[in-house]
Amino acid sequence: MKIPEKKTCLYDVVIIGGGVCGCSLLYALSRYNVRAVLVEKENDLAAGASRANSGIIHAGYDPEPGTLMAKYNAAGNPLMYEICAALDVPHKKTGSLVLAFDQAGRQTIEKLYAQGVQNGVPDMKILEYGELHAREPRLNKDARCALFAGTAGVVSPWEFAIAQAEAAVQGGAEVLLDTEVRGVTARDGGGFSVAAGAGSIEARFVVNAAGLNAGAVSGMIEPAFFTIRPKRGQYFLMDASQAFLTDTVLFQCPNENGKGTLVAPTAHGNLIAGPDSERVSGDDRANTAGGLAFVREAALRTIPALDFAYSIRNFSGVRADSDHPDFIIGESEHAPGFFNIAGIKSPGLTSSPAIARDMVVMLEKAGLLLAPNPRFVSKRKVIRFKQLPREARQKLLSENPRYGAIVCRCETVTEGEILEAFKRPLPPRSLDAVKRRCGAGMGRCQGGFCGPRVLALISRELGVPPREVPLDRKGMYLITGETKTSKGART
Ligand SMILES: Cc1cc2nc3c(=O)[nH]c(=O)nc-3n(C[C@H](O)[C@H](O)[C@H](O)COP(=O)(O)OP(=O)(O)OC[C@H]3O[C@@H](n4cnc5c(N)ncnc54)[C@H](O)[C@@H]3O)c2cc1C
Repeated sequence: MKIPEKKTCLYDVVIIGGGVCGCSLLYALSRYNVRAVLVEKENDLAAGASRANSGIIHAGYDPEPGTLMAKYNAAGNPLMYEICAALDVPHKKTGSLVLAFDQAGRQTIEKLYAQGVQNGVPDMKILEYGELHAREPRLNKDARCALFAGTAGVVSPWEFAIAQAEAAVQGGAEVLLDTEVRGVTARDGGGFSVAAGAGSIEARFVVNAAGLNAGAVSGMIEPAFFTIRPKRGQYFLMDASQAFLTDTVLFQCPNENGKGTLVAPTAHGNLIAGPDSERVSGDDRANTAGGLAFVREAALRTIPALDFAYSIRNFSGVRADSDHPDFIIGESEHAPGFFNIAGIKSPGLTSSPAIARDMVVMLEKAGLLLAPNPRFVSKRKVIRFKQLPREARQKLLSENPRYGAIVCRCETVTEGEILEAFKRPLPPRSLDAVKRRCGAGMGRCQGGFCGPRVLALISRELGVPPREVPLDRKGMYLITGETKTSKGART
């Protein structure tokens, strides 16, 4: 198929899917004068696997050497730290430990160490019993030794996606939310017509980053050559009061089902325990008693003192595993100009910025012109009131008293921060979208107290009735009707 001249298409690149892969690509493209648009079917970005995962910046010893997963994990790790620092995304370099409880475990961590060396992972070491327990005093005393990787860390995965998309939009890119791609067809003169929402988008290049739907989207334009096989992982989110137990990512040995159940700090100061691994049909994010019991048992094997009475939430995410052993990345053989970023299971979050940079190179090779974008946003800062020093808080308060009204008491999130989120390039449309931008509702009460106030603010800022403000996805409403009419209400 012929790639058309730039002037005949409205957009240069359409990206389908607003997870970390799509958002990282949009941001990488925004370095250049490229007309790019990202199309997402949900009402917010990071609505799929990118919002519900372990949030680990993997060091890169886990994937088999020579695979795309190994290449992009190793390259993505330093890029994650670079982008998080530049765009003010919550993250922390914590280091990680893979624990060995027996001789088989020791052999596994020795293999992982050797793989890490081959993959070019720096700062790894096998810690023997004394050193291990001196470093992690609350570990199960049965752990004999561990593989330490100093470059592992934790990140807020949804903020990583949203921050990049916001910066890209500020730099001139576009994002269409609530817009589902229904078809992709080749245009007569070259390029593609993408049926999206109620209309269509014309573009020279299409990149499919549709996560669990990547197989279906690829099937719109090329013969099926891979199938997505979703695998769910379940978690406990623990209250911040449990965070004293460890500040390191603690894995058990990986097995055929994944990287091993972990206990880890989160970028927001909690602990998580999970995931398990279970094949499911589609985007099935249910939590099950069996899955949670498995996670609980595994986590207690790592830290026996972990107190599940302090679990504040369960959640699950669904991995876009495929029938290919590796990531599926590249240009279609049948539809030149159409690219896949598919089968992006773990370590997809860590790999996403490296995949994005490589995809830009692939697009350039396919004919995309890359002139520098003078509007490129290389830095941004977010106001997080509770993290500010006293003098900075006072200055802010004197400028805007809304920073003195605390809406979320668990996480100390102010009205000023929530209102600021509505001024950003991609304002929130749901309670969870506010949570993902400001942290309101992330704490111990999980929005029980602040939820109604946040709902009222969204209603006011967007000018929609409270009944039309969703908790999360469209159709998930908190208010479904009035219990009393004002006429019938007692005074
Ligand atoms: C349980 C679990 C734990 C994990 N832990 C880690 C970890 O610790 N570290 C790590 O590096 N990786 C981890 N991963 C992997 C990582 O989360 C994923 O690889 C990554 O989030 C995938 O991003 P994505 O953009 O490819 O897909 P997604 O985040 O799923 O995004 C795809 C988007 O496409 C949209 N979409 C789908 N169809 C259409 C359509 N027709 N039109 C428009 N939009 C569409 C969806 O709504 C979605 O928003 C984990 C994954 C899971 C599930």
